[in-house]
Amino acid sequence: MISNETIVALSTPQGIGAIGVIRLSGKDAISITNSVFSKDLLKQESHTLHFGLIKDGDVVIDEVVVALFIAPKSYTKENVVEISCHGSNYIIQQIISLLIRKGASAAKPGEFTLRAFLNGGMDLSQAEAVADLISSDSQAAHSVAMNQLRGGFSTELNVLREQLIHFASMIELELDFSEEDVEFANRDQLQDLINKINLVINKLIRSFELGNVIKEGINTVIAGRPNAGKSTLLNALLNEDRAIVSEIAGTTRDTIEEVLNINGINFRLIDTAGIREATDTIEAIGVEKTMQKISQSAVLVYLFDVVNLSASEIREDIQRLHKPGIAFIAVANKIDLSFTDRVKELGLPSDINFISISAKENQQIEELKQLLYDTAVGDKLSTNHTLVTNIRHVEALQKTRTALDSVIRGLTNPVTSDFLAMDIKQALYYLGEITGKVTTDDLLENIFSKFCIGK
Ligand code: GDP
Repeated sequence: MISNETIVALSTPQGIGAIGVIRLSGKDAISITNSVFSKDLLKQESHTLHFGLIKDGDVVIDEVVVALFIAPKSYTKENVVEISCHGSNYIIQQIISLLIRKGASAAKPGEFTLRAFLNGGMDLSQAEAVADLISSDSQAAHSVAMNQLRGGFSTELNVLREQLIHFASMIELELDFSEEDVEFANRDQLQDLINKINLVINKLIRSFELGNVIKEGINTVIAGRPNAGKSTLLNALLNEDRAIVSEIAGTTRDTIEEVLNINGINFRLIDTAGIREATDTIEAIGVEKTMQKISQSAVLVYLFDVVNLSASEIREDIQRLHKPGIAFIAVANKIDLSFTDRVKELGLPSDINFISISAKENQQIEELKQLLYDTAVGDKLSTNHTLVTNIRHVEALQKTRTALDSVIRGLTNPVTSDFLAMDIKQALYYLGEITGKVTTDDLLENIFSKFCIGK
């Protein structure tokens, strides 16, 4: 899969910046750069910086700094050169096309990281963590990706996989002596090991729910009747005037999505059209969408106007909106207008998270944020260190579990060694897929094509 070409790409974002970094990797990375650089790079040491000119014949394209990384001490384990030039699109294009004329070829998406993986610089889940790290936009997503990059659960899985390989080879050995009906692999020990692996796998699969939430953000719907103050609340939470606030009931027609960061976790806030019997078609669509959005969310914030809504209307709304599996927070709004404490007379069920606020006067907004965090995340983060955030990993873990279940069935209702060996091999295969001990070109293509060019 690896070509012996030397690849080149811009590794910083497209567009104008103070500097742009062009990266080359491959056997000829240094000699190609040398052929357009004003100083001799061929006898320089690894990990050194060189200031000079990039020239196309006699024409100076830019003053640059060249960083040298000599194989195998580089990200890709090949010769790597990073050219920091001025960040103009014109300069960058000129330099890249000059390098291509001198023998480099344009890198494909993720090709630098693919080379790092194929040359043994990192395992597959670490390579994927690079993509997550680059796209992480919250403190929690960053620390999960960093943990995975540093080996994370690959190490844990590899130890278990090694032990399973040992059993697989013992059972293979039994096959060689099938005439003699011997058992090299102790069945009780095998069962113990599988139970141990299952514990780890189940823990990892369960962690996906939270891991995924950290990576993607927690879908949070703000729902309530028209004029409850949903748009005002959204603005108060985000401290910006993004959503349109209006006096006319039902003007927030469509859903609006914004991201709010609370204690390092991203909450994707979805403000919805008011829930009430729709009178016109556009609003009917909005209402239907609201119910749909609620069913896809992890947290529902039900906002109500504490002054203008009767207790029975509020209870009716809560009954309609409170769905199992979706965390629910009831929020009484406009307490700045309410002179008496009406909340007590509402008689809300005691298991409902509840808070009173004024969206307009910014009262209790920080407390609401904390309640959101506690409801959605709680202490789950501190007790769960290894998190799976990647759908491919979860699928491989689930397939491993299925294969191990068959092994267990084969042990309880004894089957011949060859069936047992087959199931163990399946489990090993899927476990290996996670860390890249087992790969196919399709799998690699699929993973690395999601990277951008230059990574
Ligand atoms: P939505 O239809 O639920 O999005 O409600 P809006 O955010 O558009 O608010 C409807 C009206 O209620 C606007 O006039 C807001 O200024 C007002 N409003 C919202 N929150 C409060 C609040 O906490 N106190 C008071 N007094 N008025 C509020």
